[in-house]
Amino acid sequence: MPEVAEVELVRRGLARTVGLTLRDVIVTDPRLTVPDLRQPTVTAVRRHGKLLGFELTGDTALTCHLRMTGALTVAAGSDAARAARERPHVRAVLVFGDDLAVCFSDVRRFGTLTVEPASEFAAGLGADLLDADDRQLAAAAERCAALRLRRPVKAVMLDQRGPVAGAGNYLCDESLFAARVHPAQRAGTLAAARWLDVWQQCQAVARRMLAAGGVSMRDYVRADGSRGEGQRHLCCYGRAGLPCPRCQTTLTKITVAGRGTTFCPHCQQHLPEAPPSASEQL
Ligand SMILES: [Zn+2]
Repeated sequence: MPEVAEVELVRRGLARTVGLTLRDVIVTDPRLTVPDLRQPTVTAVRRHGKLLGFELTGDTALTCHLRMTGALTVAAGSDAARAARERPHVRAVLVFGDDLAVCFSDVRRFGTLTVEPASEFAAGLGADLLDADDRQLAAAAERCAALRLRRPVKAVMLDQRGPVAGAGNYLCDESLFAARVHPAQRAGTLAAARWLDVWQQCQAVARRMLAAGGVSMRDYVRADGSRGEGQRHLCCYGRAGLPCPRCQTTLTKITVAGRGTTFCPHCQQHLPEAPPSASEQL
């Protein structure tokens, strides 16, 4: 599943649509409905967390969430729209200008393509993981600690409407490994300083993976169809059964927040917990 680094790379690949007219949206999947957009011009390609949006004239945004297996890839040339339509698992084709088309393909079809007011793009999402500054990460850490949540740390990290948006499965596993925090530790038992370490590690991993061209575990490809190299730099995610690179203990896989989760049972031990009080939230 594309996470914040991969989505940012897709955004950069789509930047060439800025200034072009969105001439047509060809929907081939009946599950998608996109209203008539009257040929607006693209003014920006935006990203917040894992959400992508074409900002258009007329205060509208065409917003895409790639979810599990979605991809946006560019086709160029005089027959770009037809070329894009012929790609596998295509759900929609966005036709820009005279010779550019963007194919929205999605094997599992959990992705979305919606039109909304530009001012509402990313409304309700947490701070952007990739671009958050120190002050924003510190505020997010304070909030995570203050909420006294009983949910696992990893569940809070995965929540795009939580304090920080952008992390998915591999960023959680890698950053919790780096911060030596057990993924199932109750979120409210971590102090703000520990949460700040978690978010800083998470941002550092995301930026490293961005520099490595993203992580291509299964379906992810960049806008030009190429694959990333980030998977070669993973220390923990996807390495269950292999030795921990820090202490050689065998990395273990469990399920946390409904997601396969790899961690080191030696480096990432549960912190002792105080008995839950009646005021603690679920
Ligand atoms: Zn270890």
